[in-house]
Amino acid sequence: MVYIAGEEMTHYASQLIVKEWIKPYFETGAWFEYDLSCVNRDKTGDQVLHDAVAKGAEIGAIFKEPTITPTKEQVEEFGLSSPLGSPNGAMRKGWNGITISRDTIHIDGVELGFKQPVLFERHAVGGEYGAGWKTVGRGKLLTTFHPEKGDPLLVDSRDLDNDHNVAVVYHNPLDNVTDLAHHFFSRCLESEVVPYVVTKKTVFKWQEGFWAIHKSVFDEHYKEKFAAKGLLDGTGGELQHLISDAATMQIIRWTGGNFGMSAHNYDGDMLTDEVAQVHRSPGFITSNLTGKREDGVMIKEYEASHGTVTDLWHAHLRGEETSLNPLGLVEAMIGAMQHGAKLELEAGGPAENFEKVMTWTTTLRKAMHNTFRYGQGTRDLSGPTGFTTEDFIKKVAWRLER
Ligand code: NAD
Repeated sequence: MVYIAGEEMTHYASQLIVKEWIKPYFETGAWFEYDLSCVNRDKTGDQVLHDAVAKGAEIGAIFKEPTITPTKEQVEEFGLSSPLGSPNGAMRKGWNGITISRDTIHIDGVELGFKQPVLFERHAVGGEYGAGWKTVGRGKLLTTFHPEKGDPLLVDSRDLDNDHNVAVVYHNPLDNVTDLAHHFFSRCLESEVVPYVVTKKTVFKWQEGFWAIHKSVFDEHYKEKFAAKGLLDGTGGELQHLISDAATMQIIRWTGGNFGMSAHNYDGDMLTDEVAQVHRSPGFITSNLTGKREDGVMIKEYEASHGTVTDLWHAHLRGEETSLNPLGLVEAMIGAMQHGAKLELEAGGPAENFEKVMTWTTTLRKAMHNTFRYGQGTRDLSGPTGFTTEDFIKKVAWRLER
């Protein structure tokens, strides 16, 4: 698999975890490692990002630690020669990202925010993230589309009558929404949860296409299967649309879980953070990017849903105790190891390797879950008496030894 290293608290914890939990038991010699810290990206003229994306596409199984997209202040602080773009955007593009799946993690016997699973698809491309923009004054703003063949089309024309405006252009590519919808509905069906498609199409008319593609995939391929499992009993037998502002409220109310949501890129970003908070911590959420290589092989990149946890890193640097919940990070490592093993098996590798990886990763997950279950969890779950980052890692390492 490909292992992408980042920085700050999550890098520190990941290094400890690899050393204490993984290396004693697991052969990591075939991991391709890339250091995507700002300083290394700058030093290599960002070649390291290109190399990581290329190797990720070749191998198809990737684990990524959270990384920093430097702010103006950080460009100065790190002494970078130029501002660096988001590595996540480059990866989503380089791996033909379809969806970022974010699901709640559950531990038997431990009560978190949602009682049953919540599944989430966030469209991996398009929207505000790829926007072009300029600050402009008074005048006329025209947006014109020039097709590869045929006449130009005026998309929008407007008069700007303020002295100070921000003009923004973005688009939503819809070709891969069919793949996204299949991914979403098949996951919801397997987990037996009720699917909702979330948009603000009532007002944002351009969002109709996202819903319409989901609806046609659902009606053609999934409706009967969902109905047979009784999963449409409460929805009048039809796929449900949920307006995004209503979704923010339902996420707080539907703490029983057992639902799935599929949303545009930015809505998905916001709503999954809300899911994370209701579910106690971003440490209890997965984040998996699914893309497709040109030959049809699925590329899967696994990461935690949270960032580098800067506040705990600064506390650590000040010599204070910290308590990082590593569950999301390690679920991501497990996901990448398992997907790597599956791809190797499909390419004709020995079944014994695959089984060993599956058995070992399942043991690792159990060791973490048991540590939480026996009241030895991190402070996001257990409160101020919870374990520190290092003590939690030591406790799981002790369990793995036995
Ligand atoms: P963050 O997710 O790192 O932290 C948000 C809050 O949640 C903090 O208070 C943090 O202590 C807490 N938290 C998050 N994960 C936790 C965990 N596992 N255990 C305990 N507490 C946890 O977000 P941020 O502070 O907004 O961003 C920090 C940095 O991370 C920024 O530089 C940002 O650019 C970067 N970032 C990277 C990614 C990515 O690489 N995918 C995603 C988001 C943010």
